[in-house]
Amino acid sequence: MGHEKTTDIEVMITEAITFTAKSSCMTSFENYYIQCPCCTSWLMGKSAKTESVSQSILYSDGMIVSDLLPINPQKVVLCPACAYFFWHDSQPVIQDEAQLNGFQPYPWSSWHLFGCNLLYNAGRKALINHYWHVLKSQRSLDQAKEISIRKSLLWAYNDLYRECQSISFKDFYKGKLSLRSWINLRRFNKESQRYFEAEKENFLDNLKPLIRLTEKEPDVDPAVLAELYREAGDFDKATAALSGIIRRTHFISSLQKHIKARKRHVFKVAG
Ligand SMILES: [Zn+2]
Repeated sequence: MGHEKTTDIEVMITEAITFTAKSSCMTSFENYYIQCPCCTSWLMGKSAKTESVSQSILYSDGMIVSDLLPINPQKVVLCPACAYFFWHDSQPVIQDEAQLNGFQPYPWSSWHLFGCNLLYNAGRKALINHYWHVLKSQRSLDQAKEISIRKSLLWAYNDLYRECQSISFKDFYKGKLSLRSWINLRRFNKESQRYFEAEKENFLDNLKPLIRLTEKEPDVDPAVLAELYREAGDFDKATAALSGIIRRTHFISSLQKHIKARKRHVFKVAG
């Protein structure tokens, strides 16, 4: 999905999403290299420089987006050369390109998010399918790894809804978007939402085991559990999980508001 020609609609969607994600300081990234343990190809990666991501957008499901890119590190890699799955953490990270001995590394776009282009609904669906494939094909995942994959799958589903709430008619009215961009973006968001609703059963088939596994984690943050229950539509358990929390942060009060209103979609917390 990473190599389609840029189309009008893509440009407009990018403009519109950029508008919603615009931050006062750009995130900067630094390159690094990892090697596929199966075919020894080198893959170039990018990591956000921590000092540059203060203006990121945080969502209720824990996803952080900065300058349109999710900056949560990708845990599982599908090698673009040999299609082998491996855990990012299992491979040493190299900063110095000289150690590649002239090998041309595969670009980040070829493996980041499995090469899926999230500016297309087809890319968003493909990302969901990739995570399902990882879950089904990787036998004997330990608890931490299964949580990590299921969480990534939850994020991939929520990507279908993530920006939908950010655009309103006011943006056209205030001249921030052209009418054409606004109409196209609305159509794009509607299609995303329709797919999300059609996938509801599969969404829950992932979320329920994720909740069971998270409950078993030592020192689990009750706010994280409350958010998972809320997204599963179990508002009583979400309320119960939150009841023991004394701290009153912006996130906790937003979460309470959404639980009270019985809203289960991902929402923007800050940014
Ligand atoms: Zn490989």
